[in-house]
Amino acid sequence: MTPELPSTRSADLFARAQQVIPSGVNSPVRAFGSVGGTPPFLTDARGALLHDADGNEYVDLVGSWGPMILGHANEQVVEAVRAAAGRGLSFGAPQPGEVSLAEEVVARIGPVEQLRLVSSGTEATMSALRVARAATGRDVVVKFAGCYHGHVDALLAEAGSGVATFAMPGSAGVTAATARDTVVLPYGDRAAVSSLFAERGGEIAAIITEAAPANMGVITPPEEDGVGFNRFLSETVQAHGALLISDEVLTGFRASREGHYGIDGQGWAPDLMTFGKVIGGGLPVGAFGGRRDLMGLLAPAGPVYQAGTLSGNPLATAAGLATLQGLDESAYATLGSASRTLQQLVADALTTAGVPHVIQTAGTLFSVFFREQPVMTYADAKAQDTAAFTRFFHAMLEGGVYLPPSAFEAWFVSTAHTEPVLDRIAAALPAAAKAAAAA
Ligand SMILES: *Cc1c(COP(=O)(O)O)cnc(C)c1O
Repeated sequence: MTPELPSTRSADLFARAQQVIPSGVNSPVRAFGSVGGTPPFLTDARGALLHDADGNEYVDLVGSWGPMILGHANEQVVEAVRAAAGRGLSFGAPQPGEVSLAEEVVARIGPVEQLRLVSSGTEATMSALRVARAATGRDVVVKFAGCYHGHVDALLAEAGSGVATFAMPGSAGVTAATARDTVVLPYGDRAAVSSLFAERGGEIAAIITEAAPANMGVITPPEEDGVGFNRFLSETVQAHGALLISDEVLTGFRASREGHYGIDGQGWAPDLMTFGKVIGGGLPVGAFGGRRDLMGLLAPAGPVYQAGTLSGNPLATAAGLATLQGLDESAYATLGSASRTLQQLVADALTTAGVPHVIQTAGTLFSVFFREQPVMTYADAKAQDTAAFTRFFHAMLEGGVYLPPSAFEAWFVSTAHTEPVLDRIAAALPAAAKAAAAA
């Protein structure tokens, strides 16, 4: 008797997954919790196109949340990984690829004199925080509401009822003691930053901020009197002996060739920077780097312990290096033009259907908010019409376009988002805009 083959359709896979994996997913947003429905289980992807277990094809606007910036299964990247795999999967010892990847990052990003490779963005921010605390001998870290820095205990803290006081744990399982060392401020609020430092500057080890917030939707760091918000933060920490950690896990190598720092980095520099996503080209890589004196605090030379069995893994560094090598000036021009075209298509469709929206950018990165007014803070972002987004999302999926399943995410284009691909998105937009309009 032949045993019955298990079904491989998405709904059945999701049911099986929920038996053995919490909520059926290995990262929460994938469960479609905020938009509802069953997430398609993806089986393969090429260029800008995804295929699911039910035989559907989608234009991908998630790009694995950023890494697939050259499109899926890019030939050069796959070939580099294949070649590396043939030489051995992991050594737990120095290997040439990690030197080349580090050299490429140092060459691109001015403030990074040295960097350590890790396996995720979370590890990168966690380690940068440890270095900052060791360097300053202080405990308190300042973050901004709506900025995401991975699932580091101290960085999952949330603001308590709108006041800039000690934070509350942002997740069950984070101790009150940990949350107490984190202060959460509204993004862009210079007065709040200044008064906090005036009061407690001597306790603060670092400010950590996304170089441009992109995990509550995209916010362009605001300028005041020609001084950008990041530069303001840099000058503030400097005046108080604290450090600035600029988190470029999402914006790095995407917002521009030099990440977001390439856009607003003039006359100032973060002390430490964190990377992830694009730097691994789809394999698990993160990195943190910055000033040589700070990075010199790391073990074995220095007192800050940090390590990783798979850090600098040869497959991961091969994928990351091949991806960065593919990201030349012409690739950024292609990305920029795909991003602008798509923004225009979306704006046109939503305007025609009478759907309130605002599109915000950080270099080639952008997101669509379903509200009229510009979004400057997390409170603004939360005030959008998420129900309209949900209707829009499902209609787009129906029309063969795979958007991030949340109203609070950036949309990700790749160099594979060529004209025919954008045409397919354009075809799906009018019906989705109409769905968004119909309450
Ligand atoms: C994705 C992200 C992280 C976390 O990276 P993981 O690889 O998911 O751990 C940290 N910071 C920012 C800005 C991110 O977008």
